[in-house]
Amino acid sequence: MAQEHTEHLQRVLRGLVAGSDPIRLLDEALRGAVQASHGRQGLLVGLVDGVSTPLASTGAVPRVVVDAAEGAIASDRLARRTERDGKRGAVAECLRVGDRVVGALAVGGDATNLDPVHLPLFAHCASLALARRPSTAASSVTDFLDALAGVASDLDGASVLVRVFDAAERLFGATAGFCAVFDGSAVRIPHYRGLDREGLRDASRHPEFKALLTSPGLRVDPPTHPAVAMLSNGVDTAVGLPLYADGRRLGHLVLMLGEAPDAALRAMLTSFSTHVALALRSAQLYRRVGDKEEQLTSVVHCMANPVIVVDEAERFVLINGAAAELFSLAAAFELGQPVAGKLGHPVLEELLSEHNHGRTTEVVIGEVEPRVYKASARPVMSSGGRILGRVLVLDDITKERETDQVKSDFVAVIGHELRTPLTVMKGYLRTLVHRGETLDPQVRELALKAIESNADRLQRMIEDVLFVSAVESGRSHLHLDDVDFGALVDAAVQDRVKVKRPRKDLTLSIDTAKIQQVLHHLVDNALKYSDGEVQVEVQDRGDEIEVAVIDRGPGIFSGDVPRLFERFFQLDGASTRAHGGTGIGLYVCRRLVEGHGGKIWCESRLGVGSRFAFTLPRWREVETPEVTIDAPAADSTTIEVTT
Ligand code: ADP
Repeated sequence: MAQEHTEHLQRVLRGLVAGSDPIRLLDEALRGAVQASHGRQGLLVGLVDGVSTPLASTGAVPRVVVDAAEGAIASDRLARRTERDGKRGAVAECLRVGDRVVGALAVGGDATNLDPVHLPLFAHCASLALARRPSTAASSVTDFLDALAGVASDLDGASVLVRVFDAAERLFGATAGFCAVFDGSAVRIPHYRGLDREGLRDASRHPEFKALLTSPGLRVDPPTHPAVAMLSNGVDTAVGLPLYADGRRLGHLVLMLGEAPDAALRAMLTSFSTHVALALRSAQLYRRVGDKEEQLTSVVHCMANPVIVVDEAERFVLINGAAAELFSLAAAFELGQPVAGKLGHPVLEELLSEHNHGRTTEVVIGEVEPRVYKASARPVMSSGGRILGRVLVLDDITKERETDQVKSDFVAVIGHELRTPLTVMKGYLRTLVHRGETLDPQVRELALKAIESNADRLQRMIEDVLFVSAVESGRSHLHLDDVDFGALVDAAVQDRVKVKRPRKDLTLSIDTAKIQQVLHHLVDNALKYSDGEVQVEVQDRGDEIEVAVIDRGPGIFSGDVPRLFERFFQLDGASTRAHGGTGIGLYVCRRLVEGHGGKIWCESRLGVGSRFAFTLPRWREVETPEVTIDAPAADSTTIEVTT
């Protein structure tokens, strides 16, 4: 119950004890009831010689309020009335002294808004004021309010129920009881007291218990009266209190009392059950919110992106694993601590500050291995639009930035390299166009040859570029065939090139054109960068075949060797410049060999020469497709259960 409603009740109770003017107390109870029931007008009538007489009101009251009051008196229970247009309505509860109806407390207002759950309690208070019975009854209501506050303060379902049964024992003298909770179509009993398992089973089988669960009294919406039944043992009275909250039926509270409750006690029992239901519902919702929060936290913790959440005072609320690692934070120690100075990055700390209303920026984090992150910070809002804090999410975009860099390098390199053969071709073409007639046939032949070889070079470059782009976008495919690898290597023999290989069957399953391309490229490079003999060596290692292209050229500096197979890598030096090229040849070779399941590498010594080698596995592992076994449509085995 909201604080202000309780205050009205407390004032009435204090007034009763102090012997204040009963009319003022009735007025207080009436105003409390109007507020607690979300109403607008209130009327309190007393029965004087069987005639209802207004004792207190909040001013002029509509007819429907008077009707409700009379309805309550006539039926001895909570009454609800609605005007014909369905808009205005009223609810009323009887005032009783013992079991005698002495009046009614009615509240009018918007028919859809009126909530009568607290009305019985205010009616009970007003009855006390009317009967001017301060001491004992007043203290029982004070007790009651204390007990309700205790029940409502707990958010754990199990301990709420312990408090409920403690309160029921103290307030109503309940000797035993149990709480049944509806769980789908099943009924669960999470708490019982004063009964053993057997007793509980007996009680739940009792026709009276079934009657309690199905009693028509429980179908009033919201239920206002406990169902009371004498149990067969003849000693106990069982009171069934339906637990309703949020418009749903949560379960049932059954209390064994020494004697049947009088009307005043019944009103208190009803009010008690409303609070129990609200407390249980709160506990349920609290648990659900807790579960959700846990779920959310574990999702955030699993995320590869670093995530940090701060509250409105810029203190850490959540640091996920990735963020803890990135900023070297011990999450457990930092929670609740101010973020300032902890991230070692003023831009990020500024993003999490109150001045930021949602911004995205790029930051570089790390000194040894700097990485580029896209950092986005957004305010966390409540449904009412209040800012609760901020969340910072980092996205590692180092790779994208590298790709951007590679792309612009690519354009620069390719642009430059394509221009070289074109310039040569244009030079020769101009000569042919202007002096074609007068040219010596030998020079003319030379010019045409030069144009042809440069056109070939241009074509090769374009093909390489297209191939790289196909490999990178995953569009390159291998066409495997069983090939006599010996013959393929023998075809590489030419001036300055020797082949050494075992004279036996070297059948391999490969894409001939692609492996030929690798071999040609390695041999071409060896011929380009050296003057002497180039040797192609094949070794059969059983499960794989190793091919090496060996030259006695200038060799390569050991620091450059690991980078030879990277995209666009070219050694600095006069000889590289003299030979042109785009620096993608060896990269293409690596992708082709790896596509066949092999490895490629280079061993080189400055001044001695280089050995470029690659392997091709003999037996390629056959990829087994993933198999999912579907359950058969109709279960062929039936398990028979005999009882
Ligand atoms: P490109 O396609 O431009 O020829 P590669 O990827 O084939 O480039 O080669 C990369 C670099 O490796 C070349 O710039 C060259 O300097 C160096 N290189 C390749 N093969 C040899 C070799 N056999 N001897 C010395 N340097 C070589």
